[in-house]
Amino acid sequence: MRRSLGQALLALAATLAVVAGAAPVVAAPSASTATPAVRVANEAAAAAYVERTITLGTSVRGRPIRAFYRGAAGAEHVLVVLGQMHGDEKAGASTVGWIRRNVRPLPGTGFWIVPTMNPDGNARSTRVNARGVDLNRNWPTSGWTSAGRGSRYWGGPRPASEPETRALMRFLTDVKPDYIASIHQPLYGIGRNGIDVAWERRLSSYLRLPRKYFGVGNPSGTVSPTMTGWYNRKLGRNGVATTIEYGARTTAYFRNTGAGRGISRAARIL
Ligand SMILES: [Zn+2]
Repeated sequence: MRRSLGQALLALAATLAVVAGAAPVVAAPSASTATPAVRVANEAAAAAYVERTITLGTSVRGRPIRAFYRGAAGAEHVLVVLGQMHGDEKAGASTVGWIRRNVRPLPGTGFWIVPTMNPDGNARSTRVNARGVDLNRNWPTSGWTSAGRGSRYWGGPRPASEPETRALMRFLTDVKPDYIASIHQPLYGIGRNGIDVAWERRLSSYLRLPRKYFGVGNPSGTVSPTMTGWYNRKLGRNGVATTIEYGARTTAYFRNTGAGRGISRAARIL
């Protein structure tokens, strides 16, 4: 059967997207020097829907840390949802699974889900990683401290000492998402940081969680050694990272459809 030019270009675009392979980001097509035909093909490639799975790195015990992309190949607007950082907080896995299975992002947008950045902690249901480090105190910011060894909140021997932290740092530096939703429990709220109040309010409204300030005990005037603290300070011109704390108990509806749809809509990809 003879295909139209448009269908052929879409097929080409899909091929190009696959060939682009494991790189987390597809470079924007260059428009200035391309011939018209190449330009059309580039635009089709940028608009093509792609699915991609990459490994961001490995945990202390060698478990892979995976990320899954769905959306436009050249998406201008990207959401990252981290399902789990603390291995004893299980509800976010349902949410990212629901998003991965059900959300077809709006044209020009896309999402990455990272089911867990702490697969060793998840396997043992511990907050900390296999070396006893709280991965949400290990980020290299002015508020990092090595105090608290042996506690559930130890920041590690050095800033970014853990392979799980470094894997996420590389990934977020590559992708530079517009929105990062980092799911935790059980403090029941949307973290306030005042960077994008409209986004916080949408999350609060759609997920029916109050906006709250979640301090982590770093000295005043320093940046909290958390993923959100690090991203908002280092890459905040590109987007905003926000903590979402579910309650201690969630219904199956909430942790799947309710939160999955709510986060996607709040990020304007659905
Ligand atoms: Zn947590």
